[in-house]
Amino acid sequence: MTDRRVIITGVPGVGKTTVVNGALKILEDEGITYKSLNFGTYMFEVARKDGIVKDRDEMRRLDRDVQKELQRAAAKAMALEKGNILIDTHASVKTPRGYLAGLPEWVLRELMPDTIVLVETDEDQILLRRLTDETRSRDMEGSAGIGQHQQFNRSIAASYAMITGATIKIVVNADHLLDKAAEDLAQTLG
Ligand code: AMP
Ligand code: MG
Repeated sequence: MTDRRVIITGVPGVGKTTVVNGALKILEDEGITYKSLNFGTYMFEVARKDGIVKDRDEMRRLDRDVQKELQRAAAKAMALEKGNILIDTHASVKTPRGYLAGLPEWVLRELMPDTIVLVETDEDQILLRRLTDETRSRDMEGSAGIGQHQQFNRSIAASYAMITGATIKIVVNADHLLDKAAEDLAQTLG
């Protein structure tokens, strides 16, 4: 099998990381390994070293040009990785000045994914998950805003498919159906 590069996206609180961990476990039993990379962590390492932020949740409020520079640095670093890679990131980031493309052209050309996954579920479920997650500083937003963000992510994913020829896969992570979401993602990765 040739190496795969998969990008996984989803609005904050949809449970992306949990689904990824479930899928990687399933694949491990089948002898398939992926290196899992977190885009935000790569950005944060640069930002923290430069003394720009202390918390990863401060990054989306930085000046747009600074965010783009961090984005570029992260993409270049991740592009050096070999083997099957799975990149956990965002199709778009909700900033105080509107949606910022998570995978603009210069990022896609570095990463050249063959599949982009969108993890989704009902906006009401996401709202509740955000309210109960105390580990992160989530932005206050109603379910209508979350619905709009998910809609925007589908739209921008279409343009990512146009640039890369990547397939776009939607994985639903509904309440009480985490196993199904993990299985669905594992199949996409396998
Ligand atoms: P996360 O832990 O996935 O919520 O990511 C933390 C933060 O990293 C996000 O709130 C964004 O500020 C930033 N981030 C992650 N991926 C991207 C991306 N592709 N483009 C721009 N910013 C990103
Ligand atoms: Mg996450």
